[in-house]
Amino acid sequence: MTDIAALDRADPLAAKRAEFLIPEGVIYLDGNSLGPLTKGAQARIASAVADEWGEMLIRGWNDAGWFTAPGRVGDRIGALIGAPPGSVTAADNTSINVFKCLSAALAMRPDRKVVLSDSGNFPTDLYIAEGLIAGLGGGHRLKTVAPEEVADALDEDVAVMMLTEVDYRTGRRHDMAGLTRRAHEVGALAMWDLAHSAGAFEVDLTGAGADFAVGCGYKYLNGGPGAPAFLYVRPERQARVRPLISGWMGHEAPFAFDPDYRPLEGIGRMRVGTPPVISLKGLDAALDVFDGVEMAAIRAKSISLSELFIAEVERRCAGHGLRLVSPRDPAVRGSQVSFAHEQGYAAMQALIARGVIGDFRAPDVMRFGFAPLYLSHADVAAAAGVLAEVLDGRLWDRPEYLTRSDVT
Ligand SMILES: *Cc1c(COP(=O)(O)O)cnc(C)c1O
Repeated sequence: MTDIAALDRADPLAAKRAEFLIPEGVIYLDGNSLGPLTKGAQARIASAVADEWGEMLIRGWNDAGWFTAPGRVGDRIGALIGAPPGSVTAADNTSINVFKCLSAALAMRPDRKVVLSDSGNFPTDLYIAEGLIAGLGGGHRLKTVAPEEVADALDEDVAVMMLTEVDYRTGRRHDMAGLTRRAHEVGALAMWDLAHSAGAFEVDLTGAGADFAVGCGYKYLNGGPGAPAFLYVRPERQARVRPLISGWMGHEAPFAFDPDYRPLEGIGRMRVGTPPVISLKGLDAALDVFDGVEMAAIRAKSISLSELFIAEVERRCAGHGLRLVSPRDPAVRGSQVSFAHEQGYAAMQALIARGVIGDFRAPDVMRFGFAPLYLSHADVAAAAGVLAEVLDGRLWDRPEYLTRSDVT
């Protein structure tokens, strides 16, 4: 049997947990959906409200760095995803950033009409592509194929390959470098959604040669509910990007109040309007937990935690009809593990009632996220134990667990 205590004693990230405020008695396996509050973010948000908004009022734009925060926070995120300074900005939400990047990418391939994605992509990315295509009225088409068929579907009709690196349901991870290379071979641009990648493991946008990328601030980056998202444009492409949503915060001189739009030099042209300053400050502070941490150490622990979870669940819950829907090979898995179960929704509600918080994705997927900065091997083993109790005792079989809430 695995010596769980020994794994935790040897954990180089163990001290990081003290930087988080996780309620007593909770094992939090949903950081892939909403990262927890850090002490730093709590303090920073309080001070942004009281000391900056409260005391500085409008002067905060200059004196508290509100105006420059999107670029500064963007650079901090860039450092986690292999993007050089000046290539990432915090902005809007992921959906809007998909729209901005996809529209810019399509304009760079005017003679091509296909947006290629996969059927496992997160729905909002596909919805945004559909809406943009309808609005452009240019005869574009969204083509979705099975995730394993993307490479073969790349041909000279494809303008943009738009993929999410890690499948939100199964955790299956695409080969970002390989697919980007293949997209470029046929003359297509590559756009990646890093919603389940940024802060979870090493990402190398520069090394992969990605053209555009987007991602969330509130998942593994722990920015808080509704925290701003981010976007990346490869430096060599920035000068040719003409933002379809051309707002004043992306203007060369917003305070010249010029009636004509002239895009700012660099990544800043991808900003639109006034940023959510309080949220941005929370995200900025939340990023402090990554200071001095190698993403490789986070990845190594994520694999160790998820391998332990799979082994413990399969050992303790055998015979209950659980089916691993994540790849068994950690090399092609993100930082989550999903099991399908007929009563997945109710079982997850029973787990949550016992302090083990994961989530559920229709039709039958119980999803468990592993964020190495605040989880221990002991937590993971205990969570598997609670799942075994719930299934052994059919503790999920109660009316209040069988009724679905708005947010699952
Ligand atoms: C979480 C997630 C989103 C969320 O988009 P919002 O605009 O922040 O609601 C988008 N895309 C993917 C792939 C996601 O996982």
